Amino acid sequence: MAAEIIDGKALAADLRGKVADHVARLKAEHDLVPGLAVVLVGEDPASQVYVRSKGKMTLEVGMASFEHRLGADTEEGELLSLIARLNTDPKVHGILVQLPLPDHINEELVINAIDPSKDVDGFHILNVGLLGTGQKSMVPCTPLGCLMMLRQYHGSLSGLDAVVIGRSNIVGKPMAQLLLGDSCTVTIAHSRTRDLPGIVRRADIVVAAVGRPEMVTGDWIKPGATVIDVGINRVDAPERGEGKTRLVGDCEFDSCAAVAGAITPVPGGVGPMTIACLLANTVTACCRAHGIDEPDGLTA
Ligand code: NDP
Repeated sequence: MAAEIIDGKALAADLRGKVADHVARLKAEHDLVPGLAVVLVGEDPASQVYVRSKGKMTLEVGMASFEHRLGADTEEGELLSLIARLNTDPKVHGILVQLPLPDHINEELVINAIDPSKDVDGFHILNVGLLGTGQKSMVPCTPLGCLMMLRQYHGSLSGLDAVVIGRSNIVGKPMAQLLLGDSCTVTIAHSRTRDLPGIVRRADIVVAAVGRPEMVTGDWIKPGATVIDVGINRVDAPERGEGKTRLVGDCEFDSCAAVAGAITPVPGGVGPMTIACLLANTVTACCRAHGIDEPDGLTA
C-alpha cells in the first residue's frame, strides 16, 4: 500500500495562519508587533534565498522584519556589537543569525551572544540545556516542525520506537530530545553506527537528517512506519535538460513510500514547516517577553 504523503506545505500554511491570527490579536489587544531580525554575513547564494524568503513570510503574517546584511569580511566584533544592539531593541523579539558564518567568525561565540529569550533558532547553550532537561525553552525550528508533523499524523507518540539518523546540534540531537519528551524510545544513529539498515528497520518513526542523497531505501523501512525526511540535497537531473538539477531528500522517496505508512516529500515536507516554526517562535518570544499567555500549538 502506498504511504500517506504528509503535506508539509499545507501544514505550514495552517501554522502561518495561526501565527497571523495571534499577531493580529497582539496588535489589537496589546498594541504589540512581534519583530524578527535576521542577520546575514557574506554572499552565500543559498543563505540569501533563505533570508529573502524568511523576510517575506515574516511580513506576510503581519510581523515586523529587520534585515541586516553584512559583508563577508565583517569583523567578529562588529557582528557582536550588532547583536548587542538587537538584544536591547524593544522592537526585536527574535534574532536569527543565518548559518554558516564565514570561517574567521566563531559561530559558537556569536550564537551564545544572542539574548536566550530572543534566540528563535534555539541554538543558544541555555536553550539547549533547557530543552535537554525538559524545561520551557526556545525550540530549534526544524525539529519542532518535524514534531508537529508527527503529532498531527499520529496523535500520541508515546511508546513508539524512533530512530533519528544524524546527531547534529541543529537537527539530530534536538529532534531526539523532543521525541524523548513525547515518550518515544529513541535511538540516535550517525556515521559510525553499525548495521544502520537493521536499526532503522525496527523503527515506527524514522527521521533522516544526514545530508546524503537518497541514502535510506525502502528495504530499510518497517512496513507502516512514518518517515520524516529532513535532508535537502541538490543532485544533477540530466533528464530535465543539460545542467539541470533537482532537490532530493535523504530517503529514496519511491521505494520508501511503497513500504511506509506515511512520508514527507522533498521538497514540500520539512522545509516549509521550518520557516513557519521560526515565525511561531517569534510570536512565542514576544508573548514571553511581555508576560502574555502563550497561544497553544505554537511550540513543543
Ligand atoms: P550535519 O552534516 O551537521 O550532520 C549530518 C549527520 O549525519 C552527522 O551526525 C553524521 O554523522 C550523519 N551521517 C553522515 N553520513 C552518515 C552515514 N553514512 N550514515 C549515518 N549517519 C551519517 O547536517 P545537518 O544536521 O545540518 O543537516 C542534515 C540534512 O538536513 C542536510 O541535508 C541539510 O541540508 C538538511 N536540513 C534541512 C533543513 C530543513 O529545513 N528541511 C534544516 C536543516 C538541515 P557524524 O556525526 O558521525 O559525522
